[in-house]
Amino acid sequence: MPHRARLTVDLSALDRNYRTLSAVAGPAETAPVVKADGYGLGARQVSLSLWEAGARSFFVARLDEGEALRRALGPARPARIFVLDGLVPGTADRVRRSQLIPLLADPGQVAAARAAGGDFPVGLHVDTGMNRQGLSPADLSTLVGDPVLQPVLLMSHLGSAAEAGAKRNQVQLERFRAARGLFPDLPASLAASAGLFLGTEWRFDMVRPGVSLFGGGPFETPDPRIEAVATLDAPILYVRTVEPGEWLGYGSGLQVTQPLRIAVAAAGYADGLLRRGGGRASAWFAGARRPVRIINMDLLAIEIGDTPARPGDRIELMGPNLPVDDLAAATDTVAHECLVRLSGRARRRYVRS
Ligand SMILES: *Cc1c(COP(=O)(O)O)cnc(C)c1O
Repeated sequence: MPHRARLTVDLSALDRNYRTLSAVAGPAETAPVVKADGYGLGARQVSLSLWEAGARSFFVARLDEGEALRRALGPARPARIFVLDGLVPGTADRVRRSQLIPLLADPGQVAAARAAGGDFPVGLHVDTGMNRQGLSPADLSTLVGDPVLQPVLLMSHLGSAAEAGAKRNQVQLERFRAARGLFPDLPASLAASAGLFLGTEWRFDMVRPGVSLFGGGPFETPDPRIEAVATLDAPILYVRTVEPGEWLGYGSGLQVTQPLRIAVAAAGYADGLLRRGGGRASAWFAGARRPVRIINMDLLAIEIGDTPARPGDRIELMGPNLPVDDLAAATDTVAHECLVRLSGRARRRYVRS
């Protein structure tokens, strides 16, 4: 067993999450979002698995992510690949070559698509209230009946979908419906992981889940319908007792007042954990949750009381016993960030359960 942190990606759990989301969203199409190297789990491996499970449309953020995904899927798997960054001016040839579908997100991108001659399909991203990308409703209205563009999707993105009752959701839904009224024949997509659970009226023709495919609950807390896909574990290197009056790790803050028995494991923030989880996150060892006392670059220490432990025993830092949403809550972030950080030193392996 190698002495380093290990990231195990369970492709069967991924497929089951895909089927669960598809069943909730159906008849809307479920189009996986595999940006940022498949949320840190390997865009190639997760996309091939999702294709087998039935996915036929995918979303990435960057142009080069789309190119890499096209290569990974190859000619035998002619998926539609949507690029959320849209059409960066000067990249039309690359879009054509890899048969990508840019989601036009501002008037400059519309101009670039027109200048390119409109010989590839595009999506129209309308801003309904996130104010970071997307065409304004007024800009969108100028595209009705456009003689050059070939739109195949109208989309927008919700800013507060994880807060089920948020007023902003209703505002965005109304604006999206209005936009859709301009393009009644165009397939439409509004919801990501959280939005698709808000109800039928949010699902339109296509939903775009990312984090819930990869084990995050749609509403930022663990959800029994969603299975863990990624497990991070690490071997114990040392077991020791810190005596009262001594310090633990860096800084003078952690002086212990009573004997503290710890297991020191071969994982740290260089393996994708967040340093601020020290003193707040939990680990799973010998059938119970244990407090994580410190997270350094290469090492972390968990408190184990009098539980027997030996070098080589493995502790779980995220996985079936420690949902990614719990780790996110303990480190003041969202499951998305916990997952994408794992693309560091941890050794990745793929299993089917
Ligand atoms: C990242 C992203 C998604 C996926 O969001 P999740 O919360 O991970 O489901 C969907 N749509 C857009 C536009 C995104 O940027």
